[in-house]
Amino acid sequence: MRISDLKCAVIGKNPIVRIVTDDGISGYGEVEQYKPYLKPFVMQFREALIGEDPTDVERVMLKIRQRGAFKPYGSAISVIEMALWDIAGKAAGVPVYKLLGGKVRDKVRVYNGALRVPMTRFRPEDYAAEAKRMMELPEGFTIVKQGISFHSPMKREFKDYYYGEPSPSPFHGALDRGLLTERGMAYTLDCVAAMKGVLGDRIGFALDCGPGWMVPDAIRFARAVEKHNLLWLEDMITGDYVPFVNADVYREVTQATSTPIHTGEQIYLRQNFKELIEKKAVRVVGPDPCDVGGIAELKWIAEYADLHGILMAPHGTGNGLLGLAALVQVSATLPHNFIAFELPTGDPAWWFDIVDGLPAPLVRDGMIEVWDRPGMGVEINPERARRYLLPEDSAFFD
Ligand SMILES: [Mg+2]
Repeated sequence: MRISDLKCAVIGKNPIVRIVTDDGISGYGEVEQYKPYLKPFVMQFREALIGEDPTDVERVMLKIRQRGAFKPYGSAISVIEMALWDIAGKAAGVPVYKLLGGKVRDKVRVYNGALRVPMTRFRPEDYAAEAKRMMELPEGFTIVKQGISFHSPMKREFKDYYYGEPSPSPFHGALDRGLLTERGMAYTLDCVAAMKGVLGDRIGFALDCGPGWMVPDAIRFARAVEKHNLLWLEDMITGDYVPFVNADVYREVTQATSTPIHTGEQIYLRQNFKELIEKKAVRVVGPDPCDVGGIAELKWIAEYADLHGILMAPHGTGNGLLGLAALVQVSATLPHNFIAFELPTGDPAWWFDIVDGLPAPLVRDGMIEVWDRPGMGVEINPERARRYLLPEDSAFFD
């Protein structure tokens, strides 16, 4: 079997990759909904892929992997990897998890970071109300995560939150950083306490915090919330869209507290997790399969983290329903350091009408049952999806 074409269409907000083969099997992958601009970056790999055997996934990846980078530029490489696994599974007649070593669990736990209603007020009682809404969703989530501090409007909405000016840039990442004021710190802690008061001890609670914290604040905060038994504090120092890791600085924070520290969603490739893991700079790593280089890449990192006593909670907010399928396939195979992955959703909701193969309901008691169809086990239905194609992508399913 040989690759005969690579196509990419922006459906809704997500670039969708289709790898076409000469024996009629196609493989699909989905780029995060926040990155519709990546289509040309995907298409530059067309010539490199044509003629290759898609079932030799690693050999194909060796041709293109060096052209990726930290978020957002690892996405194209990552979703091509997933499309190759989809083909390999379909060709072998087995679900992708079998090709990754087989499943170690029949259900995978998911956590809610994406099913949120944008908040309009930001008092502690508003955070408590949002926590209550999240825990009462029909999915029955056993873990919820909320954005606070620099990873939220707090930095703008609370007057004099920190010793700095929130950036007007539309991009978040390394720009908004600084030392919190005493009142900013106290307010953040009040909001956390209000949420914890609602969630109690039956729902796991994690916080997405930055990036942007300074080390003394990070240590002070992590120690102050120890009494709440949080699952993790995510991305305090570096994180989303920061093109570096800063393992040494993370290590200092991790060593100063019993609250687990988490990072990794922006990081591309296993090599860039090496220092974090070997230095035990964090307690939890959270690569995103759609940014890190794919699902086999993520599994390798999970195994290496497990050898070092580090937990795994993959990121996935914007990965769409094909990204969800890939997360289910790989998470079924991860070692016991796996906690849960962040549930992506279909946005707009019509995505659920054009993707076949997902269980209904998708999530029960905070878990997704692993399905057994070949490949990733989900398909975009061309008849129902065609109406959402842009004119320039009208031949995507042909
Ligand atoms: Mg995050």
